Amino acid sequence: MASQREWFEKDYYKVLGVKDTADAKEITKAYRKLARESHPDTHPGDSAAEERFKEVSTAYDVLGDEAKRKEYDEVRRLGPAMGGFGGGGGPGGPGGFNFNVGTDGMSDMLGKMFGRSRRGGASSGAGPGRGTDIEATLTLDFVDAAQGMTTTLHLTADATCSTCGGSGAKPGTQPKVCSQCGGRGVVDDNQGLFSFSSPCRVCAGRGVVIEQPCPTCRGGGVERRPRDVQARIPAGVADGQRIRLKGRGAPGRNGGPAGDLIVECHVTPHPLFGRDGNNLTVRVPVTFAEAALGGDIDVPTLEGPTVMLRLRPGTQSGSRHRVKGKGITTPKHIGDLIVTVDVHVPSHLTAEQRAAVEALAAATTVSPRMPTPGSKGRD
Ligand SMILES: [Zn+2]
Ligand SMILES: [Zn+2]
Repeated sequence: MASQREWFEKDYYKVLGVKDTADAKEITKAYRKLARESHPDTHPGDSAAEERFKEVSTAYDVLGDEAKRKEYDEVRRLGPAMGGFGGGGGPGGPGGFNFNVGTDGMSDMLGKMFGRSRRGGASSGAGPGRGTDIEATLTLDFVDAAQGMTTTLHLTADATCSTCGGSGAKPGTQPKVCSQCGGRGVVDDNQGLFSFSSPCRVCAGRGVVIEQPCPTCRGGGVERRPRDVQARIPAGVADGQRIRLKGRGAPGRNGGPAGDLIVECHVTPHPLFGRDGNNLTVRVPVTFAEAALGGDIDVPTLEGPTVMLRLRPGTQSGSRHRVKGKGITTPKHIGDLIVTVDVHVPSHLTAEQRAAVEALAAATTVSPRMPTPGSKGRD
């Protein structure tokens, strides 16, 4: 495990036997060769080879990652001149400099670097770590999406271990405070001129030592299991929208905060209504007479009761009409209902209707018969 100190102490270029100007290809090539030579599989029981393999892997972990290598180079470049950040003197001994983690400029920089490599929890066990985000999908019907709902999501994901309650210790036993670091998770190390705080090697920075690990989670405090999460879906959620539920993801490590639960919403279509942002849309058929003469028509709403829409005489088929406040209501916005009027042409006429339409036809003149502008022959 790489500690912060190693960034100052170790010359990873030397470990891999490359110049510090080597390009990525050369570095990878050197690493592969050395890793093969020292691989524990080919040297069973040889602890020197194992150490060598670890060293080579650690070096490549940094130099093989373009971003990490840049930071490493920067640290090495700044290293000897960094003393000023420690404020001089201090517990580092006479004339020494104290690089306490998390208290000054240098350590902020280191903290950032290690925060980045800590993702997933594999590369550094030191200190608390935020849990990972969990993604889930939720299919909800149109009305629930429009009005908002509370639902239970059934997930199978990392959760606090139910056997040990997350402590990692076998039930009936307790994690012991680490005797090496006294529970701080870091140890101070005087090295002549410099004093460093580095993660405690005994407890891997956790501050506690688990002597009898929990059989379910093997000491990790986390198990993969089904669990139910109550989720509040806000009104007006759209198809494909992702909702972040803070702190409902995987539990953090070593007392760190939990990750988030990200719910991707799939909204099933409605037989009558559509959505346009927070506006609802609906198409309503009207008779030719209603369109031509004007009149009041009943329009369905998502909540149930119909509302009255007054059509002016001469309303055109396909025209859109707004019913205020009958759309989707969110805390920030009240949407409208947009009604598109379709003039319905009957496919069958009674004798009486036929006579009426014929009378209308006789009374109607379209002269000269001109195409409607903009229609370009479609429809
Ligand atoms: Zn457990
Ligand atoms: Zn410790």
